[in-house]
Amino acid sequence: MVGQALTSVAIIGGGPGGLGTAIALCQLPFLRVTLYEKNPEPREAGAGISLSTNAWKVLDLLGASDGVKGGSKSNTHQSIIKHPENSDAQSRGAIRARRTRLQSALLAKVPEGIIQYSKKLLFMEDLTINGTRLVFEDQTEAIADIVVGADGLHSIIRKTLFTHHELHFTGNSAFRVLVPKSSLAHIPEITSTTSWWWGKDGHVYLSDVDEEGDTDDPLFEITVRSYCEPHSPGKTVFWGIPATNEKVGSREYDQRLRDAVSAVPEGEWKEFATFAGPRLERLTGWKKVALIGDASHPLSGAFGSGATFAMEDGWILARALELTQNAACPVEEALEIFDHIRSPYYSKM
Ligand SMILES: Cc1cc2nc3c(=O)[nH]c(=O)nc-3n(C[C@H](O)[C@H](O)[C@H](O)COP(=O)(O)OP(=O)(O)OC[C@H]3O[C@@H](n4cnc5c(N)ncnc54)[C@H](O)[C@@H]3O)c2cc1C
Repeated sequence: MVGQALTSVAIIGGGPGGLGTAIALCQLPFLRVTLYEKNPEPREAGAGISLSTNAWKVLDLLGASDGVKGGSKSNTHQSIIKHPENSDAQSRGAIRARRTRLQSALLAKVPEGIIQYSKKLLFMEDLTINGTRLVFEDQTEAIADIVVGADGLHSIIRKTLFTHHELHFTGNSAFRVLVPKSSLAHIPEITSTTSWWWGKDGHVYLSDVDEEGDTDDPLFEITVRSYCEPHSPGKTVFWGIPATNEKVGSREYDQRLRDAVSAVPEGEWKEFATFAGPRLERLTGWKKVALIGDASHPLSGAFGSGATFAMEDGWILARALELTQNAACPVEEALEIFDHIRSPYYSKM
C-alpha cells in the first residue's frame, strides 16, 4: 500500500501561537512541519503574562503545563461569575508568570529540528495548486502546501492576504519591566501582591510573577500603561524597544510608584505601542493559509488573554487539519471549519 504523501506546513512566527501550533501539528504524522522565526534565537519580549482556566486547558492539551509557574492572582480583587464544572484546570487558578517560563514550556514540547531561526519572512506568493512560495530576508526560499500566519500584531501574512486591512495606533503604550522584588523593599507601603493603580493618564500594574518560595529572590512585574502617547512616524516598531526611566517616569504618579520606577536600572524598561484594527471577515485565504493569534485578531492586548487565544487557535487548527488525513477532507474545507469555529468567537469580542 502506498502511504499518504506528507503535506508541508510552514508556520511563520515562534510566539505562543506559533509554538503551540507546532506542538499540535507535529502530532499529525501526515504533516511535515517547519516553523520560521525571524529572531536569531528564542526571544520573549514582555514581562509577565496572565494565565487562567482556558490557558491551563490548552496547555494540558499540548502537554506543556509542567514548568509553567507563577504568582497566584487569587489575592487580586476579581470574581469568577460562573463555574460550569470543577475541572482540574479551574482548580489551578489564575497566575501571572514570567513570559519566558511559558515560552520554555512550549519550546520543550516542540520536536527537535522543526524551528528555523533568523528566517524573517519578507514576501509570499500564491502558487495556486502548488502551494505558497515564501521568501526570507536571508535570500532563502521555501514552498509549503499550508501556511500558518503566527507572525503577531504586525503580521506580514495578514497584510498580504487582506491588503486593505489597516492597523491604527491606539494612543496607548505599555512600558514593562521585571525587577527583583527585593529592589523595591525600601519603598514604604508599596504593595507586594498584584495591584492596580489608576491615574489620570493611565494605570500602573504591579504583580508577582514567581510562585511563592520558588526562588530566593522572586521577580516582580511593573507595567505602566499610558493612554495619551503621541503618535510618531515609525511607531509600529515600538514593540519591545528600550525606554528610558525619564520617559516612563514623566507622568503624575503617587510617590511610591515614582520610587519604584526609579529603582529600575536604566535600560531595562521596554515599550510596547499598542495597535488595533477592525476584525477580519475571515481568518483564512488562498485556500491554504490560516491566520492565528495576534495576526488574526489585532485586539491590542485587550482581555489579557491573547496568548491563550493564540494557543487555542493552533489547537483547533490542528483538529481541523486532522480531518485531511488520507485526503478525507480537502485542506480548503478544513480551513473553512477552522474559520467557522474561530471567527464567531472573535466576533463576540
Ligand atoms: C501590554 C500587553 C499585555 C498583555 N498581557 C497579556 C496577558 O496577561 N495574557 C495574555 O494571554 N496575553 C497578553 N497580551 C497579549 C499577548 O502578548 C499576545 O496576544 C500574544 O503574544 C500573541 O501571541 P502570537 O504568537 O500570536 O504573537 P507574538 O507573541 O507577537 O509572536 C509573533 C512571533 O512572530 C515572529 N515574527 C513576526 N514577524 C515575522 C516574520 N516576518 N517572519 C518570521 N517571524 C516573524 C516574532 O518575532 C514573534 O516571535 C498582552 C499584550 C500586551 C501588548
